[in-house]
Amino acid sequence: MQSAPHPCPSCGQLGMSIFYEVENVPVNSVLLVSSRQEAIDFQRGDIRLAVCPACGFIANIAFDETLTQYSARYEATQGYSPTFNKFHRALAQELIDRYDLRGKDVIEIGCDKGDFITMLAEMGDNHGVGFDPAYVPGRHPSPAADRLTFIADFYGEKYTDYHADFICCKMTLEHIPNVGEFIATIRRSIGERPDTVVFFQIPNARYVLCDVAFWDIYYEHCSYFTKGSLARLFRQAGFEVRDLWTAYDDQYLMIEARPGSVPSPSGRGSTAEAGEQGSGGAGEKELLGEESAAETLEMVRYFVEHYEANRTQWRTRLVDWRATARRVVLWGGGSKGVAFLTTLGQSRDDIAYAVDINPIKHGTFMAGTGQEIIAPESLKTYRPDVVIIMNPVYRAEVTADLTALGLTPEIHTL
Ligand SMILES: [Zn+2]
Repeated sequence: MQSAPHPCPSCGQLGMSIFYEVENVPVNSVLLVSSRQEAIDFQRGDIRLAVCPACGFIANIAFDETLTQYSARYEATQGYSPTFNKFHRALAQELIDRYDLRGKDVIEIGCDKGDFITMLAEMGDNHGVGFDPAYVPGRHPSPAADRLTFIADFYGEKYTDYHADFICCKMTLEHIPNVGEFIATIRRSIGERPDTVVFFQIPNARYVLCDVAFWDIYYEHCSYFTKGSLARLFRQAGFEVRDLWTAYDDQYLMIEARPGSVPSPSGRGSTAEAGEQGSGGAGEKELLGEESAAETLEMVRYFVEHYEANRTQWRTRLVDWRATARRVVLWGGGSKGVAFLTTLGQSRDDIAYAVDINPIKHGTFMAGTGQEIIAPESLKTYRPDVVIIMNPVYRAEVTADLTALGLTPEIHTL
């Protein structure tokens, strides 16, 4: 593997190795794009993933922050899926019970349209402050509205005067290039408040690497963690890691941290500090040990060895379907779909449409390849032969939706 000249954004060590490159991918895959031409002409950037041998952190070292856009046009919600909503609600209830979040102050960094912090406020009678430049006022009218404040901006140094009993940050850290600095900022904002609970949820890089899920690698995600590298980052910033677990078919990685008194500069330690942990709750929770940096390098090698074969297998399928004039659609008009299409270099000749249950996306286009995003009902007219579901976790839900439409296409999941 080629070595990168950059210091690791997580631990600061030199010697990161580049292991995966894709050029000219759309720099944003969930921005609402209103015409096919705009989708095809979409601003491009490169992906060059490198792994740090010291801490196991993985970064897109070609990432250019100035190319990404988080605005009201950023439409990443999964809130239209019953499967996702069930998970999300169970997670909110679990956090409320676990940390006794009742009548407390809660901060959510990267709250998107405010779904989750609204749930925490409603279900636990909490006060909430949500930060996100993609926040859209009025999307979720709530009986708890008078206890909620939204700041349509990135969280950063200027907001460190906001304090809370519970700081939550879901599906955001992977969008942040300078992760070391970001976690240190949060640690500084907490100061001497030892009871503050910090909870993060991010995509699980172990799943991406071991499932060779190249569709989970896209431009907006510039930072990738395993349990081990995530725990090392938090310890280095002066947190004590209390728990690490996975959920949503192991696709998500969760961490509970509390401010620690002695920051550990090397972030050493290879076992989870988690002791007590109830069973059940949101998703398939289980406690696993932290991967060492060497173990992460092994997973990276596995990904590198299998990635090309996996990509070729999908290309062959698409060529076969085209040769037999099969009508193929993707189910899922989000980031995974865009990454799948652009990484395979697909065109509209192979896959005509992307289907999405989010009505806000209907009539918009997939960045990069330009497929129109249509409503499930439109499939009654198009009658696809093959549906490729972008996330296996939605297989049952999508199959039921197709059956309800009177359709029985061949179903594939990534
Ligand atoms: Zn590192």
